[in-house]
Amino acid sequence: MREKPASPHLFVALAAVLAVLAPARGWPGDAVSDGYLFNDSHFHLTNYVQQGTDIHRYLEIMGDKVGRSTLFGIPLQQTWSYENSGEYAPTYYLQSDAPLYYYSFTDAYIANAYLKLGPDERRRLDPMITGFNPADMYAADHIRRVLETYPGVFTGIGEFTIHKEFVSSKVAGEIASLQNPALDRILDFASEAGLVVILHSDVDMPFAKTGATPVFLQQMRDLLRRHPKTTIIWAHIGLGRVVHPVQGQASGSATERSPRYREIVEAMLDDPALSHVYFDISWDEVAKYTVSSPEAIGNTAAILNRYPDRFLFGTDNVAPADQATQLRVYNLWDPIWALLTPEASRKIRLGNYERLFDAARAKVRTWESVNVK
Ligand SMILES: [Zn+2]
Repeated sequence: MREKPASPHLFVALAAVLAVLAPARGWPGDAVSDGYLFNDSHFHLTNYVQQGTDIHRYLEIMGDKVGRSTLFGIPLQQTWSYENSGEYAPTYYLQSDAPLYYYSFTDAYIANAYLKLGPDERRRLDPMITGFNPADMYAADHIRRVLETYPGVFTGIGEFTIHKEFVSSKVAGEIASLQNPALDRILDFASEAGLVVILHSDVDMPFAKTGATPVFLQQMRDLLRRHPKTTIIWAHIGLGRVVHPVQGQASGSATERSPRYREIVEAMLDDPALSHVYFDISWDEVAKYTVSSPEAIGNTAAILNRYPDRFLFGTDNVAPADQATQLRVYNLWDPIWALLTPEASRKIRLGNYERLFDAARAKVRTWESVNVK
């Protein structure tokens, strides 16, 4: 498709540049995802007690279905309190009253797993830093230290959590807040280093009253507006297990993705001050709302078709044992996939991941080349 032949010297120079770049970040366009079902923008290799899927096994599970994937653990470790649950060893936050605490070693664990892989395997994965306490003014220093200790590994930070139904109140120490300057320091550093951010923060309290404005919406919008240079993916569109989309009218089932919540999200998507904000549609708990009725399916498909550049599919799977588990959340979305334009479908399943994570990879490698000695 070239319009005119370029000089051979240019090709030699270009090849030299690419040869330098290739080992670190892959050939441009090498991770062509066509033929794969999706790239996984939200994936936990390990669970709440730091156990999980072997990294080589995860690549087998991805197989020829999942092109690329984020890679993170869970920063919160569930304490096994003998006083609370005796011989019963909890592996999930709902299985114990004992506190969760920040387990920073998760970042070393993820980095070491990634570094066991060959270059072709690494190119398919984007490890993320999660092992910091977002209520700690030193959190940004932890993130910097991880980049310094494992240069060439990480693409972003998250999923980390500010508000989450029964999780936030179980975390030992100060409760995280969207208004805490410690979080601003984290997002400022993410911008400086080029790290893409996956942020979980429920838009509302659990079991909120129908029709009420989501309690954390304004704080979230303010936070996002304070960080226009940081690429931020708001996980699960702010929804959760018991944090349902708010209703516009008194009628309609509580599990319906209502026009009201759609209006809130559309207003954010239309806001030029929030053009750096994206949404992931991960977690089966989110799919349960979006496919709950023909109306919810239609509403969801309409918004995805209208803003195809702003949504990313992810599974939010935690340590899956097999490929069927890994694909289950994707298949829950089948009624919506069927209603998307080919362009919107491709972007949400594959293209937006490539665009955002490739840009972040390149920026972080550049930051490292300048700042890591
Ligand atoms: Zn998650």
